[in-house]
Order: sequence, then C-alpha cells, then structure tokens
Amino acid sequence: MKLLVVEDEQSLRSALRKGFVKLGYAVDTAADGEEALELYYSSVYDAIILDINLPKMDGFEVLKELRKENTDVRVIILSARSELDDKIVGLDTGANDYLAKPFHFMELEARVRALLRRDFSTQGTEIVTGRLLLKTALKKVYLDGIEINLTKKEYGILEYLLMHKGTIVSGEELIEHVWDNEADMFTNAFKVHVNALRKKLPRDTIKNIRGQGYYVE
Ligand code: CA
Repeated sequence: MKLLVVEDEQSLRSALRKGFVKLGYAVDTAADGEEALELYYSSVYDAIILDINLPKMDGFEVLKELRKENTDVRVIILSARSELDDKIVGLDTGANDYLAKPFHFMELEARVRALLRRDFSTQGTEIVTGRLLLKTALKKVYLDGIEINLTKKEYGILEYLLMHKGTIVSGEELIEHVWDNEADMFTNAFKVHVNALRKKLPRDTIKNIRGQGYYVE
C-alpha cells in the first residue's frame, strides 16, 4: 500500500515516514501543499495523510483540489487540538477521517489501515485464501498455520494481490502501490521480488499471466 505523507514539520514528517516504511508501506512525503499536489498528479496513492497547517497551500485547499477530480483516494487530516473547527471543515471538504495532534503513531496506523480496508471487501484484519492466512495488523503470513518469513516488499505484493483477488494486477500497478518514488522503475527489480515471493508460497498461488500481470484466485 502506498501513502503520501504531507507535513511541513520536518521531524514529524520523517518520523511518520520511518514508522510506515518499517511496517512495509511505500511512502512518499511532501513538505507543503504544492509539492503534495505535484506528487499526487504524478503518482498513485492508496491513502494521503494531510496536515492542515501547511505553507503555500493549506491542507483544506489541497483537499479541495484532490476532490475536484472526484478521486476516491482516502484522506486523513491531521490538525492541532486547539483548532476545533478543523474537524468539521475537513470532513465537509471530503476528508475520510481526522486525527488531532499530538497522536500516537499506532493510532494513526490503525486508522490508515481502517481506511484502506473500506476500499476493499476485506473483513476485519485477516485475509484467508486457500492455505494462506494474512494478519494485516501484524503484517504476518501463515501457511497451514505456520508463519512464513516474507520481506516487507514480498508482504506488500502479497497483501495487494489478495486485496484484489480475482482480478489481474499488472506489474505497473504493483510497482505503483508497493514501491515509493525512490524506487528505480527502470529495473526489473520488482520481478525479482515477485519470483522470490512465489517460491515461498504453494505452487500456483500467484499466477503469472503472460503480458498482463499477476493473479490470485
Ligand atoms: Ca503543519
């Protein structure tokens, strides 16, 4: 899953990035509203964490621009506790959720996960398919009840494919949702990750449809 973190305060921005990357998310960051929109128009995000008080363009203006395109990207806004009206204005402008500062990182992560879940028909925090069980809150995968060790990228690929079970996911789409902008798109590195993942799973769990992409039944 790929996130855009928009926050002007450098220490918070990098703490959020580190926290989400550690959990296996792909994360891009922006320090002001204009940069956020530039990234938004050139990439694909599953959720945006948007601070309200930003230089150049504030969070509300960014949100208005995002919603003009009638995008269904999930947006959670962050604001200082003293600004009581922010929550109402934010939700009216099209935010999906709101979190007051200061907050605990794990609370933000739980809310982001809840928002991402609403996009898909996944129930709760577990995905079961065949012999596999994914615990999305813990980012753990079990095969016949035994945990299998996946790298963060392998986990990210598997989670994305399972959330889109029954549809063909192209390599391009995988890259967009599992890698951040720091990734080198000109390499076939992602194929290496997909192949390594397939080797750890029962045969044919992930089907490779030549010229189209990957598929989980
Ligand atoms: Ca701010």
